[in-house]
Amino acid sequence: MDAILAVEDLRVSFAAHAAMFTRDRRRIVAVDGVSFALGPGETLALVGESGSGKSTVARAILGLVPYSGTIRIDGRDVAKLPRGERRALTRRLQMVFQDPYSSLDPSMRVEDIVAEPLDIHEHLGGGARRDRVRELLDAVGLSRDFAARFPAQLSGGQRQRVAIARAVILRPSVLVCDEAVSALDVSTQAQVIRVLAELTREMHMSNIFITHDLALAAKIADRVAVMYFGKMVEVGTSATVFPAPAHPYTQCLLSAVPIPHPRVQRGRQPIPMIGELPNALQRPEGCLFHPRCPKAMEVCRREAPAITTAADGRLVACHLVTARDAS
Ligand code: SF4
Repeated sequence: MDAILAVEDLRVSFAAHAAMFTRDRRRIVAVDGVSFALGPGETLALVGESGSGKSTVARAILGLVPYSGTIRIDGRDVAKLPRGERRALTRRLQMVFQDPYSSLDPSMRVEDIVAEPLDIHEHLGGGARRDRVRELLDAVGLSRDFAARFPAQLSGGQRQRVAIARAVILRPSVLVCDEAVSALDVSTQAQVIRVLAELTREMHMSNIFITHDLALAAKIADRVAVMYFGKMVEVGTSATVFPAPAHPYTQCLLSAVPIPHPRVQRGRQPIPMIGELPNALQRPEGCLFHPRCPKAMEVCRREAPAITTAADGRLVACHLVTARDAS
């Protein structure tokens, strides 16, 4: 597979005060050695609890936060390109944000919001600009008279359709959706997902779909990457990971997802995780998940598990999987 996007050993950290009213500043590690590749037309779901680092991965890819490591688009290291070339390359990556209420400028009309990337990158004239906006409004299921409205005149679902139209107007190669439907009610969510799926297919885009909703990820993703505390702990195809998760963290998350079948759901027991995500300033020794892991062993408290390839091809960072595949 020739990757459109390849991320190697990505690391992001932020300075933070260790406590209120102190000068003691420390580094919070938000993303810790993340690597993955995205193929043409592929949808990769990045999943994990809030605070797992998945949105920070997206922000680093889009150049919105400083990072170390390598991000390649079409094989070219973005950080090593001259500024003009970097700008041309990064327009191929666009993002849809979570909150449709704060991501649109309330003082702009829909036509100008959707056309904003065109105005920056292509400087199209009046008629051609208007035609492109109309074409995109049609594609996201909004009639043309929406072009003259302001965001305050739109529902949450309509705002998110406008945000999607703006994100795809330059025909990006990669669309990053950061919890793009989590603020919407279930029926609007289904409609917006359908619009995204159709646009993805028609424009041959690849998708990074960031969500804490594993049921949704299972429906739309070709592959899934599970993140915990800034690290990837399990990466594999949806067909292998969702029916039989290998990492205890993935097992816990999936056991809490309700199954829409009353008889099957009655027979299921959630696997409880112990406590909450630890304080970001106090990273545990050994496996980062060991204080919460229902299967933790002595070795887990001392040694961080390396990410290894399991027999079915998925990547897992867990001593249990390493021991099983070695035997
Ligand atoms: Fe649990 Fe140990 Fe595996 Fe970490 S390495 S997930 S603590 S069993």
